[in-house]
Amino acid sequence: MSLSYPWLMPVYQQLQGQLAAGNLHHATLLSGQADIGKSLLARALAERLLCSGKDTFACGQCKSCLLLASDTHPDLTVLTTEEKSRFTKVDQVRAVIEKLAGSAQQGGNKVVIVDRADQLNVSSANALLKSLEEPTRNTYFVMLANGVDRLLPTVVSRCYVQRVATPSAQQASEWLQGYARSHDDVETALHIARGSPLRALSLLQAESGVGLSDVFQKLSGCASGAAGVSQTAKVLTKVDLAEEVIPVLHAGLRQAISQRMDAPMAGPKTVASLAQSLLDKGWGIDAYFALLDQCDKSRRLLASSANPNHTLLLEDILIRLAMR
Ligand SMILES: [Zn+2]
Repeated sequence: MSLSYPWLMPVYQQLQGQLAAGNLHHATLLSGQADIGKSLLARALAERLLCSGKDTFACGQCKSCLLLASDTHPDLTVLTTEEKSRFTKVDQVRAVIEKLAGSAQQGGNKVVIVDRADQLNVSSANALLKSLEEPTRNTYFVMLANGVDRLLPTVVSRCYVQRVATPSAQQASEWLQGYARSHDDVETALHIARGSPLRALSLLQAESGVGLSDVFQKLSGCASGAAGVSQTAKVLTKVDLAEEVIPVLHAGLRQAISQRMDAPMAGPKTVASLAQSLLDKGWGIDAYFALLDQCDKSRRLLASSANPNHTLLLEDILIRLAMR
């Protein structure tokens, strides 16, 4: 067995080495950018901790591994933030702690994966502190966070912080080649995803049937006046607004603004071409910032629990984009 994300191998091997040497910290905090595969890494480590074998990876055949495969291992707990909730609730944390008080049902280790340690609020984090300070026997915490700055320092200080690096552009690009129609698509997706390979992959595999380069073309067409707002909206309404349309326009706007300010950024051809359509409008710099602002506001609204009308938000953006 190996990890399907090759850039995670060095860090996995390092942690597994600590485990083999008997000095794996009881609380490992995996910190790194979103969408680089930290969950998979945590899962692989948890499986290794629960497997009764001695190899680099969990054996996949022992009783523990079979229980893991059917998602019924009694000694693995995943603490995650409930959907539409901003924070992991203190009651959830208490339930986990209660469970840890008993001994391991399979006689080995007990593992808790804290899926979003950066979404523990103060009371949840405080509830967890004691377990981190004085863990029960054979208990391991594997915590994940998109950066440690949002965690309570008291929590961080009780963990071994393992930084998980974002893969290099070349590593990410090589891995994505197999999933894309062209190298240009890969470059564009990685640019929009700001280097996160898994986010880039979801852009390349979007279910809308509208490719990433089509989204660029439609937005360019709307900006240049080659296509009307309703015509553009009809196609783009099939595409995820928060995850794809807005990030694409955002990238074009950032590029256009950087060029206007005589500090052009490097970027793929698709982004440069959208930026050019925006620049050809000859707007004052404030108008570009205003549209950027509108994108940000719409995105925040979409991420909130306000449940806004996606089509209206899209049309509002396109109306501004089409202005002369
Ligand atoms: Zn096993």
